[in-house]
Amino acid sequence: MKSFRKELWFCTKGRREFINITSHVEAALAESGIREGLCLVNAMHISASVFINDDESGLHADFETWLEKLVPEKPHSQYAHNDTGEDNADAHLKRTIMGREVVVAVTNGALDVGPWEQIFYGEFDGKRRKRVLVKIIGE
Ligand code: ZN
Repeated sequence: MKSFRKELWFCTKGRREFINITSHVEAALAESGIREGLCLVNAMHISASVFINDDESGLHADFETWLEKLVPEKPHSQYAHNDTGEDNADAHLKRTIMGREVVVAVTNGALDVGPWEQIFYGEFDGKRRKRVLVKIIGE
């Protein structure tokens, strides 16, 4: 069995942002040379997510609106975590809602996903360099 590991780095301009990272993961898969196996993609930070959804118009704005309804960023004082002097309690909670990682099957050297499935990095406390881990095992 082969094993391949790669880190992808991101630094968003805004506090919250969604980035389609499918092409980055496909490039890592090509680099790995693995044809059959599993590909794990996970955010390495507790205020960012990796998730799969459509890259359809309006959807990212809808995610932003929905998440802000569930766990609004402000006022910062509404969260016990922010009593520590941090201001990112909402980012921890948004990360939990949107998930830490995805696992995608690798078949015949390609990501074996549905026709509309795209892999996204969800940033909830950005403006700094953060990592995503890609781990691929198989043969
Ligand atoms: Zn925090």
